[in-house]
Amino acid sequence: MHIKFTLICILGFLTSSFIVSRDRSVNLETPQVEIDTNYEEQEDFLFYTKKVLIIVADNQYHIDLGQKYTSIKLYSSAHPEAIITVKSKIETLSFGGLNTDKNIDMPPSFVVFQSPTGNFILQSNTDTEITLELFYASPISASIPSMKYKKFDCEKPQTISQKIWREGLPDPIPGRISTVVNHCVIHHSAGSNIDTNYVNTLRNIYLYHTQSNGWDDIGYNFVIAPDGTIFSGRDSDGIADEDNVQGAHFCSKNGGTMGICLLGNFNDTTPSVALQKSLTNLLAWKLKKEAISPWDSYPHPNSLSDDLATITMHRAGCPTACPGDSVALLLDSIRFRVQKTIDECDGVVSIVKRNKKYKQLVYPNPSTGRFYVMIEDDAQVSSFVLKINDGRVSQEGIFPENGLFNLQVQAGLYYIELFNNEGLLSQTKIIIE
Ligand SMILES: [Zn+2]
Repeated sequence: MHIKFTLICILGFLTSSFIVSRDRSVNLETPQVEIDTNYEEQEDFLFYTKKVLIIVADNQYHIDLGQKYTSIKLYSSAHPEAIITVKSKIETLSFGGLNTDKNIDMPPSFVVFQSPTGNFILQSNTDTEITLELFYASPISASIPSMKYKKFDCEKPQTISQKIWREGLPDPIPGRISTVVNHCVIHHSAGSNIDTNYVNTLRNIYLYHTQSNGWDDIGYNFVIAPDGTIFSGRDSDGIADEDNVQGAHFCSKNGGTMGICLLGNFNDTTPSVALQKSLTNLLAWKLKKEAISPWDSYPHPNSLSDDLATITMHRAGCPTACPGDSVALLLDSIRFRVQKTIDECDGVVSIVKRNKKYKQLVYPNPSTGRFYVMIEDDAQVSSFVLKINDGRVSQEGIFPENGLFNLQVQAGLYYIELFNNEGLLSQTKIIIE
């Protein structure tokens, strides 16, 4: 027999229809989410609500949210290591565990639902207090025009204005400041790579930045989707061009920067060709407009080294994996393509010969710091640079004749780059234990 009782959640203060039911006998393998409330006519909805719940370990709580929501943030400040599951009709999400990347763009505690969700079963492996934040990004009426790739002439690429994609959501708070941009900072959202509802994701990120973080507006100047669509980000509020509005994305020191977020997680996945093309075009337009070179660096207060590159990454400013190793490895190639694009717009015939791609082998890898680097003889490699995961140079020098390295460095993840007198030949990720 089921012993079932219902608690009206008195902790909620924004809506009275938020209901928590506890049923000790429900089997999570066959979730009994029978409360399939129809919220089709969801007119009087909340964009955002926040609840604090006290939950007992291994109990299953039926949560009826009183309306559908499109994303969730769930965390336990008291027990960050607690594993908390949210099981809806179509997906099971796992929250908690220690997150070591404190500067990640979308933390694991924030998830965009696969489809709007009004109820789920909640369970924790620890007695704890949890904070539940819920966001509802209503659907928009307009369809988003697809990108047109004509021959790129360094004019501003087509973007989807905030007015279009933000339809129906709360306005940003006025009070922008403008900045002179010397650095374009690349981010990834650290979100899903299978999600294709980019407008919905962007709208949820907007709600997350404005409602949960309490920012005036979305943090980035531009957001690029895997299909190449470029969305205008932060509203300029009429004070400057949108690319010269100071955002909120770069380690609390946003002066001199323009933030571009690539939707998806590029720790292990390479961005699509369409995404790379839109990124290249956006950067080529901006760098040409500011008359700065993709290969230059300028001082910036938030740089971990002396100067910060004009095309740079979130991880160059503070410890984070953003924008993912796959983007970090592409960065020189993107700079090269941006330069080529600007040269073509300027009618300059590029005399830079593209280096032949060489295969570089590192053995053993992982190693204790003693390893061989092998590369074809005709590469005529002359020097090497060892970079830390965040892009800082750890060591550099003449490439040893027999390819044998014996590095005395801290354990960790590094990149070894080989150069000949024409430039960068190759880059390999190495692990030193
Ligand atoms: Zn970032």
